[in-house]
Amino acid sequence: MDKTQYKDVYVFVEQRDGVVQKVAVELLGKARELADALGERVVAMLLGHDISAKAEELIAYGADVVLCADERELAQYTTEPYAQAIAQIVRERKPSIVLIGATTIGRDLGPRLSARLETGLTADCTGLDISEERDLLMTRPAFGGNLMATIICKEHRPQMSTVRPGVMRAKEKDASRTGVVEKVDIHFDKSKFRVKVLETVKEQKNKIDITEAKVLVSGGRGVGNAEGFAMLGKLAETLGAEVSSSRAMVDAGVMPHDRQVGQTGKTVRPDLYFAMGISGAIQHLAGMEESGYIVAVNKDKYAPIFGVADLGIVGDVKKVVPLLTERLAALSKHNK
Ligand SMILES: Cc1cc2nc3c(=O)[nH]c(=O)nc-3n(C[C@H](O)[C@H](O)[C@H](O)COP(=O)(O)OP(=O)(O)OC[C@H]3O[C@@H](n4cnc5c(N)ncnc54)[C@H](O)[C@@H]3O)c2cc1C
Repeated sequence: MDKTQYKDVYVFVEQRDGVVQKVAVELLGKARELADALGERVVAMLLGHDISAKAEELIAYGADVVLCADERELAQYTTEPYAQAIAQIVRERKPSIVLIGATTIGRDLGPRLSARLETGLTADCTGLDISEERDLLMTRPAFGGNLMATIICKEHRPQMSTVRPGVMRAKEKDASRTGVVEKVDIHFDKSKFRVKVLETVKEQKNKIDITEAKVLVSGGRGVGNAEGFAMLGKLAETLGAEVSSSRAMVDAGVMPHDRQVGQTGKTVRPDLYFAMGISGAIQHLAGMEESGYIVAVNKDKYAPIFGVADLGIVGDVKKVVPLLTERLAALSKHNK
């Protein structure tokens, strides 16, 4: 393979109902850094139907070129049309790097593409950099999070990687940036389409996604049960926060998986993170250690969570949390 034919950093811009997902903006920020290191361009792949109005925004977030595939077949995500569209773009234009968000959609799309394009894919990267040899250095946790592995795709192109939402930082929007918007026509092989979306039923959600929350009150095995989490709920209400959880309480069936923080849950970066009765296993830390300010309450003063906490309280959550809630409620009343 002649690697010199491959250049530029491409980002798959995931959109749902025409709303560009935060992870795509974060990836554009990282792609900008990588492209600057290589002296190449950032190319955003915007796929959907009636979505071309979003292109300028992507330029403001760091893209030099936006490839816009505006097709009826791409209105809603289904695997085959999206895989065909991106595979066509990659074959025609030969990017050096392709970045995809590790969302449910990205996790479906990434492996299909890497198989079709006969190249590697490193999933769930937590760090991306460029080596002296101009290869992409893709870092991700390995062996259950006990060590970090840096993976290189030396022999094949493009170098593909998925990154979870919340891991990379988005660049500030710069409306003065200029770029090129290019329309791309996709030649679908419709005989391969096997799935038709007949109806979309949205789950009723009145909670904010934990990756979007500014304050999180997270509970672990030390919180114990649903009653314990109801106690955390009261504290969260006082603070305008969301409740999240360690995996232990998800496995115990006390909390749903979409509230799980960590390596196999979500990566969060709130301004304030409360770790209540959470030991601080490496797989949990991987999902929250970048939080702005961390408060930990644990009855074991040697708990590893205190190693990352800005403020540690050694005590029983069942005593500390109601006191904290009471005090904060009084303070907020006083400040009104
Ligand atoms: C491949 C893999 C992926 C994983 N992914 C994740 C992940 O995404 N997220 C995740 O969280 N974990 C994950 N884990 C599991 C992880 O290793 C830990 O088992 C888990 O995080 C432990 O949860 P915990 O801290 O709630 O429970 P424990 O480790 O049991 O800790 C409970 C803590 O509560 C304290 N405590 C007990 N009672 C009280 C009390 N009354 N007051 C105050 N403190 C109290 C204890 O001192 C202890 O520190 C993963 C593991 C593997 C192998």
